[in-house]
Amino acid sequence: MAAEARAIELRQQGIEVISLAAGEPDFDTPERIKDAARRALDAGLTKYTPTSGTRELREAIRLKLKSENELDYDLAEIVASAGGKQAAANVIAALFDEGDEVIIPTPAWVSYAAMVALSGATPKLVPTREADGFILSAERLRGALGPNTRGIIINSPGNPTGAVYQAPQLRALAEVILEAGLWLLSDDVYEHMVYDSVAPHPFTIEPRLKERGIIVNSLSKTYAMTGWRLGFAAGPREVMGAVGRLQGQNSGNPNSITQAAAVEALTGPKDELRTMMEEFRSRRSFVVARVRSLPGLELPHVPAGSFYVFPKVSALFGLKWKGGVVRSGDELADMLLAEARVALVGGTDFGFPEHVRISYANSIANLKTAFERIETALRALGAK
Ligand code: PLP
Repeated sequence: MAAEARAIELRQQGIEVISLAAGEPDFDTPERIKDAARRALDAGLTKYTPTSGTRELREAIRLKLKSENELDYDLAEIVASAGGKQAAANVIAALFDEGDEVIIPTPAWVSYAAMVALSGATPKLVPTREADGFILSAERLRGALGPNTRGIIINSPGNPTGAVYQAPQLRALAEVILEAGLWLLSDDVYEHMVYDSVAPHPFTIEPRLKERGIIVNSLSKTYAMTGWRLGFAAGPREVMGAVGRLQGQNSGNPNSITQAAAVEALTGPKDELRTMMEEFRSRRSFVVARVRSLPGLELPHVPAGSFYVFPKVSALFGLKWKGGVVRSGDELADMLLAEARVALVGGTDFGFPEHVRISYANSIANLKTAFERIETALRALGAK
């Protein structure tokens, strides 16, 4: 968001910037979903709804969880929120308290640690290894457990690395999670953004996890609906009751028009998703090849999911430019914004300062120009 804001600021000064910083699909929301919103407006669906979402929406979410994830929930176990972000924040606030410790494997989405801290609990950042494809191993999880560890957050496919946990890795983690009696928050927002195989769901792989697990998901990425704000959580009734009560006090129901649009998104044909994914697939090939062709950027693994790559850039540290010396991924991002007019995100806030995140939620034409400009800037500064 901050990197995107800097790009917008420069554009307002008349400087043309290509943004590879965005965490949202560049596609428009499908017309059938917009139509459903127009119909909802015309029908006067402009009033409060039940806090956890209309019955119709929760039924659509229930069916989605059944058909796409093979998981059974009833309506009292589902809460719709204003985005996956609100869903995650409410679940974390409902589950954790002062004195609790919550494990966050890194690199991780920046908001988890803040949400855990806001709940009063302590985020325990556990770095994964690039050599392991940024997958948390059961061993590392076991080594990170302490007497106050109460939960863990898994995000597969992941932001910012694109890593996708496979069934054996999930099974091994599940053993440790169950043994230690942890809560597992499974953030599935990128579940459909996979290229090489499906992303297995932890609760499908190990059904015992479902009793200790809460799903957080969102329509933002799957249906190109980031601005509409519709996410949801599903989990054990007691937890979801608390999440609903919390939401009832801190915000209330998600937007009523958005809820009607979301029913259409979830229950209608999925053709646009396929089209979007075909496009993302070709962009991924292009971006991976191009990143690997640049001096000083290392990307050993082809990310299996999401729409980001997370290369290591430490070989470029020491590079001098008019703004100073590059000593981190963030400073490389500053340099590229100034010298190449390309916005990307430094890795520090994801817990990996030697990396940068590049989003390929942008057209191939823009990606081509962006990488040409990055290459020119790097070579002009003497990168080899
Ligand atoms: N989880 C992850 C890993 C994300 O990257 C994001 C958004 O970038 C979200 C959750 C929340 O998305 P939203 O609040 O738009 O549903």
